[in-house]
Amino acid sequence: MADDCIFCKIIAGEIPSRTVYEDDNVLAFLDVNPLTKGHTLVIPKAHHQTIADLPAGLGEAVFEALYHLTPAVEQAVSADGSNIGVNNGTAAGQEVQHVHAHIVPRFEGDGGGAVHSIIRTMPELTDEEFDDIAAGIRAATD
Ligand code: AMP
Ligand code: ZN
Repeated sequence: MADDCIFCKIIAGEIPSRTVYEDDNVLAFLDVNPLTKGHTLVIPKAHHQTIADLPAGLGEAVFEALYHLTPAVEQAVSADGSNIGVNNGTAAGQEVQHVHAHIVPRFEGDGGGAVHSIIRTMPELTDEEFDDIAAGIRAATD
């Protein structure tokens, strides 16, 4: 547990939350400032800042919870779909430094955008740049 972490305090029961799911490794609760009705956060119980910091098994546990929770959240609020996202690192807009996935239910005509709306100015890449990027990612996963 990190002393100054609001999500660790939720896990410890020091701050209240509207819990919707819990197992040995994962907790899910309603976002206190929902983007839409049913906006839910899924977090590992252990404090890690970003996805890269998670031990492999814990990343899988978070994703498995997302897999089960997403249809449940959608059903509970009669959503037509959902966006699932992680603000992974401060450069990506992460404000709470305890890794968490957002499930944001979506409704036809709700006026929201796609994941693609997070960036307005896209890079124009040459074929060579695409190739270099793909090669770099492949090398980094070896
Ligand atoms: P992020 O920008 O991805 O770090 O998002 C942090 C999220 O945590 C925001 O959507 C907040 O509304 C949410 N949040 C902050 N404090 C609480 C809390 N005490 N209970 C529930 N959600 C919270
Ligand atoms: Zn924490």
